[in-house]
Amino acid sequence: MKMVLRPKNSGAWLARERWSGSAAEQMLSMINSLPQMLRPLSQDEVIIRGMYLMNDLPMHETGRWVRRFDKAAIEQAIPLVRGKPVMVNHSTDGFDGLPVGRFFHAEPESRADGSSWMAALFFMLNDDQGKRLSNAIDGGIISENSPTLEFDKMYCSVCGAEDLNCDHVPGKMYDGIKCFVVMTDVSDFWEGSLAWAGQQRNTGFYVAAGRDVSDLVDVDERMVQLAKTKGEVELVTPWQDWWCQQVGSPGT
Ligand SMILES: [Zn+2]
Repeated sequence: MKMVLRPKNSGAWLARERWSGSAAEQMLSMINSLPQMLRPLSQDEVIIRGMYLMNDLPMHETGRWVRRFDKAAIEQAIPLVRGKPVMVNHSTDGFDGLPVGRFFHAEPESRADGSSWMAALFFMLNDDQGKRLSNAIDGGIISENSPTLEFDKMYCSVCGAEDLNCDHVPGKMYDGIKCFVVMTDVSDFWEGSLAWAGQQRNTGFYVAAGRDVSDLVDVDERMVQLAKTKGEVELVTPWQDWWCQQVGSPGT
């Protein structure tokens, strides 16, 4: 197990110009092995960042939108991300609707609060556009992101009834647990967008340069996990009061 200190949503870790070693070479190899790369890119030609793009936290509620993904949806989406485009605000209209980057790797992360995440690495070209976007990401101006994906099933978080064919009402509390529409059975992943605001909570970016893409463990989270196993820490999260118990996807 390799531990890496990795500040979340911070551009203060490793800058692109400090890339070196096997991790950078591994990421460049992943990029150059994508379909439709008409020439190999060099390290100096790409800017790499990471998105925390999906999670199973309750989403921001707007109107009748009381939804979240389940852990299975995150796991189903991860293998579908490689090679898919990075867009801006989900726009596919005209010149501005063309991709600004491309994903080349995605992996799961489990956080100490019990939530499941997708961490997705993408690259942009080290040109004027790539520099402008990465500068806005690192400087905190572009701070959220959002995926577009297809899924086949929705179910009630309280009883598991498919299509909410039950008496539970999303947004209402049942024995202290809020009812959500849970989305799962992801069948395709279209794109991940830099977004002015995303429906999911706490999406963000990370600086991937120099990151070993396997066997990463956040030190702070690992310490919390270790403390929990020893019964020393009662974990408190902002979501604890209204965290929706995962009931699992029926039939899976
Ligand atoms: Zn129900």
